[in-house]
Amino acid sequence: MKETPVKSRNIKSQLALSIVVVGAGLGGLATAIALASSGHSVTVYEQAAKLGEVGAGIQIPSNSTRLLSRLGLDPYLEKYVTEPEVISFRRWESGDVIGLTRLMPDFRNVFDAPYYVIHRADFHTALHRRALDLGVTIKLASRVTEYNPQGPSILLENGTAVSADLIVAADGVKSVARKMVEEPGQKALEQTGFAAYRATVDVAKMKSDPEISWLLERPSLNIWYQAPSSGHPGSIPMISKLY
Ligand SMILES: Cc1cc2nc3c(=O)[nH]c(=O)nc-3n(C[C@H](O)[C@H](O)[C@H](O)COP(=O)(O)OP(=O)(O)OC[C@H]3O[C@@H](n4cnc5c(N)ncnc54)[C@H](O)[C@@H]3O)c2cc1C
Repeated sequence: MKETPVKSRNIKSQLALSIVVVGAGLGGLATAIALASSGHSVTVYEQAAKLGEVGAGIQIPSNSTRLLSRLGLDPYLEKYVTEPEVISFRRWESGDVIGLTRLMPDFRNVFDAPYYVIHRADFHTALHRRALDLGVTIKLASRVTEYNPQGPSILLENGTAVSADLIVAADGVKSVARKMVEEPGQKALEQTGFAAYRATVDVAKMKSDPEISWLLERPSLNIWYQAPSSGHPGSIPMISKLY
């Protein structure tokens, strides 16, 4: 029997649940979209008063774009995404290419889904719009202070308790919910001592600088590797994403 292509599957739940998702980040919104697509009634509680521009460039590899496509995101993402042709791994001192991964058309051919780069704020906007179009309710300025697994219910900072059939915590790295699922004696998250710095640069300025304008000739990802033995503090890689 021929298998139904994953893209066209649209499984509706036989039982429509009332579901609360805590956190309107990439994870919370994607979860809300998936649940609403299955016919559930979803409300997202987000502590921020406004969903704003956060982050810089983000890669969406083929395993993710395939899922996003299944969630109906294609028309919401198309105006924001860039499909890089290659990933070039470069020697940090000279810029020489020491490794190359061809993305176009190889990734579409092999994985049947594209590899995108996008600004994180645009990705978030696309997810937000798709969620709203599916009827997801998003409540801003709604910080959750407690979870009650017996309810199940959540308590908001303003004292309001909200119960649902299912509560999904997608509240990020500083999760309030995590302590409820941690095993006793589990090691707390540790600071690694590493830091990642990100910046976005105006394309017009890059085009006018002959030293770096070549980066814009083809949509590509560039990663400069620094050898740990080079005597420079911190090992890069430095990544340039064009989106
Ligand atoms: C430098 C860097 C580069 C990255 N690059 C990539 C990449 O190229 N590709 C990729 O796939 N991933 C990348 N990631 C990872 C990706 O950004 C994260 O995995 C993703 O954003 C996590 O989403 P999230 O929804 O779990 O958490 P978050 O985005 O942190 O969202 C959590 C949300 O919950 C809200 N919240 C928290 N606590 C509460 C509360 N008590 N009540 C109500 N709301 C609450 C927060 O305000 C927030 O909106 C990168 C990460 C970093 C740091």
